Amino acid sequence: MKLNDKGLLIVISGPSGVGKGTIRSALFEMEGHDLIYSVSLTTRKPRAEEVNGREYWFISKEEFEQRIKDNKMLEYAEFVGNYYGTPLDTVEEQLKSGKEVVLEIEVNGAMQVREKMSDAVFIFIAPPSYEALEKRLKSRGTEDSEHIKERIEKAKKELDLAYQYDYIVVNDEVKNAADKIMAIIRAEHAKTERTIHKYNSLLEVKNND
Ligand code: 5GP
Repeated sequence: MKLNDKGLLIVISGPSGVGKGTIRSALFEMEGHDLIYSVSLTTRKPRAEEVNGREYWFISKEEFEQRIKDNKMLEYAEFVGNYYGTPLDTVEEQLKSGKEVVLEIEVNGAMQVREKMSDAVFIFIAPPSYEALEKRLKSRGTEDSEHIKERIEKAKKELDLAYQYDYIVVNDEVKNAADKIMAIIRAEHAKTERTIHKYNSLLEVKNND
């Protein structure tokens, strides 16, 4: 009897610069999980250390727009001048095979996933303070000053949408935040609506004994 047939979709969002990527790395380094990261598609240019297929699949605007037309995206959004999106087919395949799929996406995309896959878990990563976020965005050195300003403006709007999520995890310390996310994932597995079918089948077996 297969008890846990469909995997859990975990959506992690939060403003640019909040440390989502670092928390995700810490989460994946933890032992005893079956998490898979969904690599997004983007039209943004790769940063110096980024590798195609690892951080993102870097594609052209034309290719991205074709994929939208062909309904091949689970969600997508425009973020400070570039497209970012989640490929539908790989996520569906991984969930069907019982994998735990993690999406790390901005808020508009997360809300599209909410519409399509209401049983996903939505986690918002918040900074300890607005000042901490601004400082981090300015000091990480991945964008020029014009883009930093745009990202700070965007971050303010994103913080306002935290109430739409199931959980808010403050990134006071990376390990702490990763631990909390793992605890959320474990608790989600025990939720009645995810577990009742398993419990019922156990009862059937017992009653047939
Ligand atoms: P960055 O350019 O810093 O890598 O990403 C910019 C923003 O796009 C981040 O908030 C990141 O989480 C978000 N993002 C990355 N991949 C996706 C995606 O597939 N869909 C959406 N909606 N946002 C994404």
